[in-house]
Amino acid sequence: MTARIIDGLSVAAEKRAQCRSLTTALRERHGVVPGLAVVMVGEDPASAVYVRKKIQACADVGIASRKHLFPANASQEAVISQIAEFNADPTVHGILVQLPLPRHFDVKAVLEAIDREKDVDGFHLYNVGGLVIGDTVFPPCTPYGVMLLLDHVGVEISGRNAVVVGASNIVGKPMALMLMQREATVSVCHAKTRDLAQFTILADILVVAAGCPDLIVGPMVKSGAVVVDVGINRLADGRLVGDCHFDSVAKRASMMTPVPGGVGPMTVTMLLVNTINSAQRALTRGLRAQMACTDSSAA
Ligand code: NAP
Repeated sequence: MTARIIDGLSVAAEKRAQCRSLTTALRERHGVVPGLAVVMVGEDPASAVYVRKKIQACADVGIASRKHLFPANASQEAVISQIAEFNADPTVHGILVQLPLPRHFDVKAVLEAIDREKDVDGFHLYNVGGLVIGDTVFPPCTPYGVMLLLDHVGVEISGRNAVVVGASNIVGKPMALMLMQREATVSVCHAKTRDLAQFTILADILVVAAGCPDLIVGPMVKSGAVVVDVGINRLADGRLVGDCHFDSVAKRASMMTPVPGGVGPMTVTMLLVNTINSAQRALTRGLRAQMACTDSSAA
């Protein structure tokens, strides 16, 4: 068997075209331009690349973005005070704090300073809680993108065995919750899992997000499985690879995402989707408030 490659770039391009139509409609019908504010602390080169990509993607679909860069030694109070300004600014519909933050920051406190109605990364406790009960407003972008990819290529999820390798708060755990919500039977593996292969070999759907090149090799994969490689690893020779040994896994899987060109473009795209959704929600809240005002003045 040779896996069909799931082309994240083309799925992302299709979704971004839909985003463009939505921003055009919001602008032309309601005069609303969705806005994203990005907060970055320090100049970590990888973070700088990610932020640049997000800002370019915003411009591409008609979202107004702005970046607020703090020096690496900035205080947590200064960052939280900037977030408060963005919370109060009606032209900002989404606020994203680029992670990781320098060590002197309490990440949880910073993320919780974001208005939950502007939490387009989906990391605020309110949205995390929503995910647990299957009712989140802003699903976290990477697992949200994985679900869209699976749906796009018609993978049946209900009743299948899904194994998620990696249990981080931003990828592995929300991924497992989303698959569970769609009635998969989910196992979550992590660095302390003993004999990883005994789990992965049972997976009809295998999502790998560990950050370890070649962690998953062909014999660990069930024949015909759908494999989603979330990992992004830069090798010493400069190559970008995922967590799966591509050639051997592709011989066992029925479908597989490549790295690059798989999950990565979807992550940025789902940030655009969440930001536009937030602008639509703000518009609806505004219209409801106007109607309530009109009703009470008429009474
Ligand atoms: P993370 O916070 O470092 O978490 C890694 C997770 O993998 C942890 O739960 C860890 O287990 C587990 N793990 C590490 N080594 C393992 C092993 N040998 N066997 C089984 N599990 C192992 O990383 P993350 O932020 O979730 O990101 C994971 C990978 O996805 C990274 O390569 C990152 O660059 C990539 N990523 C890609 C995208 C994208 O858009 N494509 C987005 C986000 C992240 P413990 O919990 O026990 O430590």
